[in-house]
Amino acid sequence: MDQNNSIEALPSSVDQLLPYIFSHMDDAVIIANSDREMVTTNDAARLLFGYNEQEMEGNKTLMLYANADDYADQGKKRFNHAAQAAGEAYVTSYKRKDGTVFDGETLGGAVRDKSGQVLFFIGIVKDVSTRVATEQTLNELHSITSSRALDFEQRVDAMLKLGSRHFGLPIGIFSKIEGNTYTVMQAIHPENALTPGMTFELEGTYCSHVYAANNTQGFHHVAHSSIQKHPCYLNFGLEAYLGAPIFVDEKRYGTLNFSSPSPTRPFIQQDYELVKLFAEWIGHELARLYDLKALEQARQELETLSQTDPLTGLYNRRHMEGVMNEEVERAARYAKPLSVALFDFDHFKRLNDTYGHAAGDDALKLFARTVKDASRCVDLYCRWGGEEFIAAFPETSASDARKLLERIISKLKDANFSANNEHITLTMSIGLTEIRQGDSIDTLIQRADEAMYEAKHGGRDRIVTHL
Ligand code: GH3
Ligand code: MG
Ligand code: MG
Repeated sequence: MDQNNSIEALPSSVDQLLPYIFSHMDDAVIIANSDREMVTTNDAARLLFGYNEQEMEGNKTLMLYANADDYADQGKKRFNHAAQAAGEAYVTSYKRKDGTVFDGETLGGAVRDKSGQVLFFIGIVKDVSTRVATEQTLNELHSITSSRALDFEQRVDAMLKLGSRHFGLPIGIFSKIEGNTYTVMQAIHPENALTPGMTFELEGTYCSHVYAANNTQGFHHVAHSSIQKHPCYLNFGLEAYLGAPIFVDEKRYGTLNFSSPSPTRPFIQQDYELVKLFAEWIGHELARLYDLKALEQARQELETLSQTDPLTGLYNRRHMEGVMNEEVERAARYAKPLSVALFDFDHFKRLNDTYGHAAGDDALKLFARTVKDASRCVDLYCRWGGEEFIAAFPETSASDARKLLERIISKLKDANFSANNEHITLTMSIGLTEIRQGDSIDTLIQRADEAMYEAKHGGRDRIVTHL
């Protein structure tokens, strides 16, 4: 222990002892007399408030408060003759000599002698502005991320605004990076100079540093840094940057970054952690959206599968019955025409027997392709069973439906269908009918069926209409 720190070297009077004890503390210590006039302050206090010793001593602590009301309040609560010694710490708004305001966590109260007489008031102040601001930002982040009223894009937008405000960086970008292409997904910019879809070369952005480090990066004054030759500084003059990588299911997706044309205060650990947290949330949310999308796609595929015939891709019988029922009801309700046709391949057994079952299947598939190409999107086609098909034409009279059917039949005949290198002309017998008052799906199909049999008996390869 050196001489200066030994007990013998301690000052003997209280007035000298107090500053000695507090001088080495990191927190600001202010000692005031019973009139709340400052008597002693430590280095940390002078540094925090920006005054020198003479400017503080003898003056009321009122000069340190951002609001006179707080000074009065604390006088009532703590700094009076009846009050107890320092209890709970509290946070108050203080003002520096230069007028800037900060949140100070304070431990303060009266120190008394044995008789209960107030010896002095003491206040120990810690600048917790960044902690308070971080807490506020975290609270806001929580309400943004938990808000059911906002969709993903709106949440990211709110997050970009929050980050921009917190870091004091007016430009905020959520980017996607593929190879060397940096794409703006969402952005905020004071002059709206950035729009979604804009692309840049990754190497031309500070995000190249985030990608190289695979971690959060920050530059608060590029002109005075080692990266002053960076193309982003040369091209865009951005002085400050804070960015973090976004990972989706552990795969790198892009970045979340904030920047400014002006230099800022140096970034602290909390800034890095906060921007990382923002980026993590976006990554999780993207992963969740992907999962939802995949789930919805699977659901759609399953639905399609349950509605269609696997060989032809046309509706299956069960689904057709459902949608045809709806069409029958609609036609009746709005007094609109609805035509129904039943198709049956001619001599299909012969085709199978001569050329094989696969050739038969090919013919069924060719029919499906032909009707899909020829029909309008409102028309419904179904594989009714075997080599029989049924079609429903909403808001279409039988005579209009007939024209459509003739086109299909001639296309089917003209198609270059062959098996075993032999050209085969495919023909069908079709029964056509139009809805009548009081029809059900069953009576409608029954009439189409009768018409189809008439076509068969009449020599096949024809359309017979029963009205
Ligand atoms: P018709 O002109 O009187 O209709 O004669 P047809 O030979 O077509 O007689 P029918 O309609 O009774 O014969 C249906 C044949 O279609 C019998 C069956 O083997 C065949 N078939 C049914 N489903 C399939 C299938 O999925 N693939 C193949 N290749 N053939 C099928
Ligand atoms: Mg048949
Ligand atoms: Mg047949």
